[in-house]
Amino acid sequence: MHTMVVKKVGILGAGIIGICSAIELQRRGFQVTLLDPKGLGTQASSGNAGHFASEQVFPLADPALLPQLPKILLDPKGPFRVRPAYFLRALPWFLRFLWNMLPSRARHNSHLIRQLNERAIPCYQELLGVCGLKGELQLSGSLLTFEKTAEADIKKQLAAFQAEGVAVEYLTRAEALHLEPALGDSVSACLYFSDVGHCHDPATLCRKLADYFLEQGGTFHTVSAEKITEFQTSVKVSVVSAEDEQVHKDLFFGKILISSGAWSKPFARQLGYRVPLDTERGYHLMVPEHRILSRPVASAERKFIMTPMSGGLRLAGTVEFAGLDAAPDYSRADMLLPHAKALLNNEALEKFRVQDHHERWMGCRPSLPDSVPVMGKAPNHKRIYFNFGHQHLGLTWGAVAGKLLAQDISGESSDIELQPYSIARFN
Ligand SMILES: Cc1cc2nc3c(=O)[nH]c(=O)nc-3n(C[C@H](O)[C@H](O)[C@H](O)COP(=O)(O)OP(=O)(O)OC[C@H]3O[C@@H](n4cnc5c(N)ncnc54)[C@H](O)[C@@H]3O)c2cc1C
Repeated sequence: MHTMVVKKVGILGAGIIGICSAIELQRRGFQVTLLDPKGLGTQASSGNAGHFASEQVFPLADPALLPQLPKILLDPKGPFRVRPAYFLRALPWFLRFLWNMLPSRARHNSHLIRQLNERAIPCYQELLGVCGLKGELQLSGSLLTFEKTAEADIKKQLAAFQAEGVAVEYLTRAEALHLEPALGDSVSACLYFSDVGHCHDPATLCRKLADYFLEQGGTFHTVSAEKITEFQTSVKVSVVSAEDEQVHKDLFFGKILISSGAWSKPFARQLGYRVPLDTERGYHLMVPEHRILSRPVASAERKFIMTPMSGGLRLAGTVEFAGLDAAPDYSRADMLLPHAKALLNNEALEKFRVQDHHERWMGCRPSLPDSVPVMGKAPNHKRIYFNFGHQHLGLTWGAVAGKLLAQDISGESSDIELQPYSIARFN
């Protein structure tokens, strides 16, 4: 068994994190199998905002949120929402979230986030180059718009980003209009992040990367992994067929990587690890007209983003705590439309008006209260690795997270020290 399985890696979860990890392992000579009940790149990784957001260096546990907390809990149409029925289940997550607002925690978490952000786009350029997919990444920067915030406060934010080494400029309204002529009258100023990018469609990106993985000899099975058992020389993964739940099977691998996004917690638990993983559900609404903007345009005050994609303009954002199984509340997607209309000029709005069909989508961000993903070897297991919890930045971190885990699994020296990202921090 030993010689047969030693170079075989099984990956549980075929989102952008699992797919990028799979290709990076393949490049290091491993025989890789992706296992997923829902297909390749169909969950959070398919409908996100497509923004390679390496400027987002601050953890989500921002003390500035504190005064807004009552509104968060009460306003069903606010950008953050905890469904009342889920409140008690979300409470432990929120208590840890509050603890991570302490300045020393925030500095530590920000450092770990920045280490990934700095490498995120160069790692994609390399990976996409290898896969012949360079054109999938557009490096046109992004804009963060402001409507009512005072200039002095915007400049404080500018200084905070600059202090973290982010490439950012303050743009007056007139300067911003040169970049995005469709901005409406309400936009008073912008921050322009020149070094970030976006893709034409994250689902297409996942599909093309997965095609490359399969062409290179990778294997994919549509199954749900149920139980993981580690032996001296192998790991047994008991799986159940996604089509026919009666069909159970045992698969053996030399190593297992758990990258099941928001669904990773039961695996950690069955192996004996605690992890405060929850899902921040998010929504998108597609407006079929796509020639309105040239780059992602976000709103600091309205907390959403508009990204031009091949299928139209994607309006995305909002955070909802309601667990993995509650039915989507698509009014949270619909509420993005008035926000978009408020940010665009009349000419752009004319294009909105002729469109009547708007596709709606909900996805489950895998989030930890410190905004830091769980990456690296399971502390008490020799053959089991984790790569999950990439919160709002999982698309951005796909290539770097894949590379770091492949380095760890293959025993190469790692580009960054993975210990601070270990699940050990919760155990
Ligand atoms: C509205 C919205 C906008 C976003 N915008 C951005 C953005 O602009 N930029 C950015 O960087 N990030 C963004 N994100 C976040 C990003 O989408 C996620 O962080 C990322 O997709 C997570 O990738 P993943 O591979 O870990 O998870 P997923 O893509 O969810 O993949 C996890 C996989 O695990 C599988 N799975 C579940 N159970 C099992 C099991 N038992 N066995 C095996 N497999 C299993 C699931 O079927 C799924 O395919 C956004 C998210 C949302 C919701």
